Amino acid sequence: MSHPIITRFAPSPSGRLHLGHAYSAMQAWDFAQSVGGEFILRIEDIDHNRCKREYEDLLKEDLAWLGLEWQEPTRRQSEHLDDYRAIADRLTEMGVLYPCFCTRKEIQAEIARAGAAPHGSEGPIYPGTCRGLTAAERGEKLEAGKSHALRLDLQKALGSLAEPPSWRDHDNDSQIIPSQDDWAALGDVVLVRKDIHTSYHIAVVADDALQGVTHIVRGLDLYESTHIHALLQALLELPAPSYTHHQLVKDESGQRLAKRDESETLASLRESGVSPEEIRERLQRLSSNS
Ligand code: GLU
Repeated sequence: MSHPIITRFAPSPSGRLHLGHAYSAMQAWDFAQSVGGEFILRIEDIDHNRCKREYEDLLKEDLAWLGLEWQEPTRRQSEHLDDYRAIADRLTEMGVLYPCFCTRKEIQAEIARAGAAPHGSEGPIYPGTCRGLTAAERGEKLEAGKSHALRLDLQKALGSLAEPPSWRDHDNDSQIIPSQDDWAALGDVVLVRKDIHTSYHIAVVADDALQGVTHIVRGLDLYESTHIHALLQALLELPAPSYTHHQLVKDESGQRLAKRDESETLASLRESGVSPEEIRERLQRLSSNS
């Protein structure tokens, strides 16, 4: 029996969906339709500071209006924080995480002091300050109850694998092996945030594996994150899905659509009488602008 093809759309309910989300959702949906696969909707609401239940209901309404269908109940990540904690514990046992006590300000000051301003896709690249703490220094801070994140010790993690991590690029039918430069542009990313005690990277990798997702269709803005996800899949010995990164929808002036563009929410478009078919046509036009 061959494996079923499963893809997903995984929005965060932190506001109303806009055209960019609609494009992403439709790309995943169209892919599932074209291969007779299953389409899953997953609610990525680990960030309790930003996500609201009311937005979850509204985004489902918007997606249903667009003509998408999925099985209920949908997985809601905020209900599975223990699963993500267990993964962080496993990574800690493997020795590839370290506590980071730095504040954002301290990181910026350290980068300025070093006279470098390396910027990766996820913001400034962490200069590695807390990686160099001695066991005693670390112990002291932990004992004093200093709040901390857990960062991936990237080089240690890479070094612990028999082969360099890679991932399947479905679009180009190729295997992507991130280079040392690609890794350097990411640095020691946070895998357990100070505020929410987990991270997007852990939750998404855990759930894609748990839900049997075989093909991930998502925006190019997450391209670099895919390197991290492939690394985590290798460390945790999870199945490796293949990835398609679609272009990001831009407006007529070439600007990427952002959440703050109120006028472009699906709700406001719908209220102004735009039909789902018109949304589709408009998205096709905008994506060919890119
Ligand atoms: N939850 C993420 C977002 O809303 C998308 C996650 C993914 O597709 O991997 O940006």
